[in-house]
Amino acid sequence: MSSAAPPDRLSVRNVVRRFGGVVALAGVDLTVNAGEVLGLIGPNGSGKTTLVNCISGVMPITSGNIALEGHDITRWSRVRRAKAGVARTFQNLQLFRDLTVSENIEVGVNAADRADRKHEVVRELMARLGLEPLARVVVSQLPNGHQRRVEIARALAGRPKVLLVDEPAAGLNDAETADLRVLLSDVRAEFGCSVLLIDHDMSLVLKVADRVQVLDEGRVIFVGLPDEAFQQKNVVEAYLGIA
Ligand code: ADP
Ligand code: MG
Repeated sequence: MSSAAPPDRLSVRNVVRRFGGVVALAGVDLTVNAGEVLGLIGPNGSGKTTLVNCISGVMPITSGNIALEGHDITRWSRVRRAKAGVARTFQNLQLFRDLTVSENIEVGVNAADRADRKHEVVRELMARLGLEPLARVVVSQLPNGHQRRVEIARALAGRPKVLLVDEPAAGLNDAETADLRVLLSDVRAEFGCSVLLIDHDMSLVLKVADRVQVLDEGRVIFVGLPDEAFQQKNVVEAYLGIA
């Protein structure tokens, strides 16, 4: 490798995570390149959310190594990782349901130490994510698709280098999922942010992702182009639950 080659945006090396006797991640490698959407798929319980938790610093890993643009963040707190550019959304929406759209986005701006330009940043995010008409609406009154959009806007407030999105299409209808697909493509293009996208909805992941990686029982069983994943016998078998 040439010394001039830039480091990977996100690099996960040989990560193991155990819960007592359960090996949720059994030595996972994963690379997210600059400006790419990497789809992470796999059957229920294969370790996808655990990997997101380990990358975002919600929980420590048992062993291995995680680096952001070449900096080893393995032992950093979640707050330090967030400030360095690792942002995430949650499988179950985690918004302040009694606050308005703009107030929820403000929370993200404050957390990112951008409070000095708060109103400007909130306005810009709302404009870019098509949320301006909803600025004063209380989040609990919005349909799921819009709530998901608010959560993504909040995550983008810190100008992340990598956005980890765990099952964003959960609870969305087909039209909302189609909007989400456009939104995630825009995020990559407009915010220069790499995306690690987890979802069960293959119409979403396989269309948005540049590459996909498949997990099964905490191991990587495929890395490659979206079109090729389900041409692999082992990927199909993992989904069908064939040992
Ligand atoms: P996925 O997101 O792919 O459905 P998870 O990462 O949630 O999978 O789970 C992977 C494995 O780790 C499962 O066997 C699950 O039961 C286990 N696991 C996940 N989180 C915990 C936890 N906090 N405590 C104990 N076991 C857990
Ligand atoms: Mg999960």
